[in-house]
Amino acid sequence: MFVSECLNVNEKGHLTIGGCDTVELAKEYGTPLYVIDEDTVRNTCRSYVNSMKKYYNGNGLPLYASKALSCKALVQLAMSENMGLDVVSGGELYTAMQAGFPAEKIQFHGNNKTDEELEMALEYNIGRVVVDNLYELERLNSLAEERNRTVKIAMRIKPGIDAHTHDFIRTGQIDSKFGFALETGEAMEAVKKTFEFKNVELTELHCHIGSQIFDIDPFVSAAEVMMDFISDIKKQTGHLISELNLGGGFGIMYTSADNPTAYDNYMNAVSKAVTAKAEEHNIPVPFIYIEPGRSLVGEAGITLYTVGGRKEIPNVRTYVSVDGGMTDNIRYALYGSAYTVVNACKADKEPDDKVTVAGKCCESGDLVQKDTMVAKAETGDILAVLSTGAYNYSMASNYNRNPRPAMVMVKDGKSRLIIKRETYQDIVMNDLDL
Ligand SMILES: *Cc1c(COP(=O)(O)O)cnc(C)c1O
Repeated sequence: MFVSECLNVNEKGHLTIGGCDTVELAKEYGTPLYVIDEDTVRNTCRSYVNSMKKYYNGNGLPLYASKALSCKALVQLAMSENMGLDVVSGGELYTAMQAGFPAEKIQFHGNNKTDEELEMALEYNIGRVVVDNLYELERLNSLAEERNRTVKIAMRIKPGIDAHTHDFIRTGQIDSKFGFALETGEAMEAVKKTFEFKNVELTELHCHIGSQIFDIDPFVSAAEVMMDFISDIKKQTGHLISELNLGGGFGIMYTSADNPTAYDNYMNAVSKAVTAKAEEHNIPVPFIYIEPGRSLVGEAGITLYTVGGRKEIPNVRTYVSVDGGMTDNIRYALYGSAYTVVNACKADKEPDDKVTVAGKCCESGDLVQKDTMVAKAETGDILAVLSTGAYNYSMASNYNRNPRPAMVMVKDGKSRLIIKRETYQDIVMNDLDL
């Protein structure tokens, strides 16, 4: 009935998540409120970890792309499920270290890491720094040299697979700020360069072809291109790259129009392609990393709002205003993202009321969803927006000096706070008097 299995309707007609009545959660913790279902995240982690056993004899590690939702509790959950972690900033790395995550299972991404961030990576002695460009490679090598040590690196490659078009295409050179281009020879030059540097050790190649992808084919093509490249490197330099990171990007359900591929199908097809290429090139199957972000937390999360005013503009549209908006979910304003909205107080009723759910910020573009169907939304009702676990809290802002919402984790009908609601004191914390 709903996009996620953790959601249901109770005898009161209220929406439930993880066995908790969402209307009660709104009462207890206030709104806006992020809610995340622990079992959904854990089960997804397990399916990724198990797939590495099933398809790669255990020679692989899924890394949680923590930019989707970075906070101590989620990092600790990933850790308890034996995942690795991918971070893209000093802040995410700091969060991971504060959460007690094992440094050797962390990989650090980003196209413009600062010296301070590179130094943090060295200080914490994390697993791999994913090098994006030559400028970074040179800086990292000299920072490591200053410390009289070596650092293991991955190299980010643009495989030339554009997964964002409906029928994905292979282009000579994709327009992207990330990584080294393959087809121009830039990537091979960069790989050779790393072998000249004494303080970096290239063990891994990385690619990430996009996000919210439903097709299997672009993932298979990217894996094949990367395996060909590993073989080319071996032929040209004699070096065997032993690890391959195939990135994230697996699509999830935001509305019933989305039809994601079962993850296992993807894993099956990609592992076959990798194994076939290894045989073709007579090289060993590399250790495999994948980096799911959205697919790990997206469908596990919902956001609860309280309906304020209702504005019916005849022959135009009906606006229903809620107590959050672009500050806690910027994805509609940013990409026009589709979401399912449910009247949590009337989850058993027909969604026959066409409304535009508006936020409370001073921006006319501050909408959560335009012209969406819900059961009659009246003042005081609780609206639930589904599949908000990924890229909502992590993109939240304090625009209009709105405090960021709290987040609770639910399991077996019980809830607990994992992120406190910001206060007005938090808002002025760093302000200094004139
Ligand atoms: C964003 C990102 C991911 C995660 O992408 P999802 O679509 O959330 O799975 C993985 N790897 C890299 C390098 C990324 O930038």
